[in-house]
Amino acid sequence: MDIECVVVGAGVVGLATARALAQAGVEVLVVEQAAMIGSGTSSRSSEVIHAGIYYPANSLKAKLCVQGKHLLYEYCQANGVAHARLGKLVVATNEEEKGTLAGIIEKARANGVDDMQWLDQAQAQALEPALRCTAALLSPSSGIVDSHGLMLAYQGDAENAGAQCVFHSPLIHARVLQPEGFEVSFGGSDPITLSCKMLVNAAGLNAPLLANRIEGLDPKFVPQAYMCKGSYFSLQGKAPFRHLIYPVPQRAGLGVHLTLDLGGQAKFGPDTQWITEENYDIDPSRGDSFYEAVRRYWPELRDGALQPDYTGIRPKISGPDEPAADFMISDASHHHINGLVNLFGIESPGITSSLALALHVKSALLDGR
Ligand SMILES: Cc1cc2nc3c(=O)[nH]c(=O)nc-3n(C[C@H](O)[C@H](O)[C@H](O)COP(=O)(O)OP(=O)(O)OC[C@H]3O[C@@H](n4cnc5c(N)ncnc54)[C@H](O)[C@@H]3O)c2cc1C
Repeated sequence: MDIECVVVGAGVVGLATARALAQAGVEVLVVEQAAMIGSGTSSRSSEVIHAGIYYPANSLKAKLCVQGKHLLYEYCQANGVAHARLGKLVVATNEEEKGTLAGIIEKARANGVDDMQWLDQAQAQALEPALRCTAALLSPSSGIVDSHGLMLAYQGDAENAGAQCVFHSPLIHARVLQPEGFEVSFGGSDPITLSCKMLVNAAGLNAPLLANRIEGLDPKFVPQAYMCKGSYFSLQGKAPFRHLIYPVPQRAGLGVHLTLDLGGQAKFGPDTQWITEENYDIDPSRGDSFYEAVRRYWPELRDGALQPDYTGIRPKISGPDEPAADFMISDASHHHINGLVNLFGIESPGITSSLALALHVKSALLDGR
């Protein structure tokens, strides 16, 4: 074999996985089609460290988010990655939404998140005077992280443990070898074909497409890919909030929420727009609906205060009319090919879960060897 393990994709998940495997003594090559790390979904997020309160009990999203959140705070602290445990308010703006908040507390408890606090209107407004709500939940363990700093730290750790990252190298084809391993072919200006024992597909939006290019993998183990775009609008001027502010969750996303970056700049988003082609343009007219959504919890938002900022695309494996799918970590227990892990549907909370996802992939590949 030319190399022990190839990880496809230098996003937050590919880099975290490369780090975990390299630190376990595996020889790792990370191959990325773009010119640099984190040029896909990982640099187009809300950069929120999620508490793990919304996901169905026992789902991978619930388990890996809660485990990943603890690991991430420890990691950022130990490695000087910029982050802040700001806390978040989930706000109800009418009686019906108040009922939804009660359900969120239950879900959070079932996921092992025991620090949620119920705030009545007066308590919520004492914390955030500009907020209009009928009640709110405070999630003290929610925060924000510099996602690029995080990826650089993962890359540094992986490289210090012997991993190599190569860029401008799209995976174009792979083949399952007998009795073990894979032949992988890369395009770009220096096309090359290599053999490896382990192959991790962390190609984000492209993961299902790439899995379908693995000769020897039955397509029945590859889910249908969908894309759901989210647009962000930034606030001109200073935000009157110190916490992240979220409405009660919607069907395909978490609703138009307010997040703050580490410099204190506020942005609103992401909204939801199902698309069929990858395209990151932002349509300024989508901002019109933001005013109404945001004024439900912040009536003082001024006309013209929102500026188009950026978009991200959720790598979905469930369609618009289906219930949200869980993360899908497809390993040999699923498709029966030793050494292959495909990571499908790694949407939010993928950044929060990155260290936990990496541990999961490492065990899938190395346990019992
Ligand atoms: C709008 C939005 C908001 C979000 N907010 C949050 C949040 O606040 N908190 C949170 O925890 N999570 C959030 N997420 C989720 C999080 O951003 C993702 O789960 C995470 O970034 C996925 O990382 P990844 O490494 O799997 O994918 P990516 O970052 O997309 O990386 C995949 C990489 O694979 C490369 N690639 C693709 N095809 C090939 C190929 N053929 N050959 C070689 N390389 C290839 C791509 O160029 C890319 O660099 C959000 C997501 C979206 C869309």
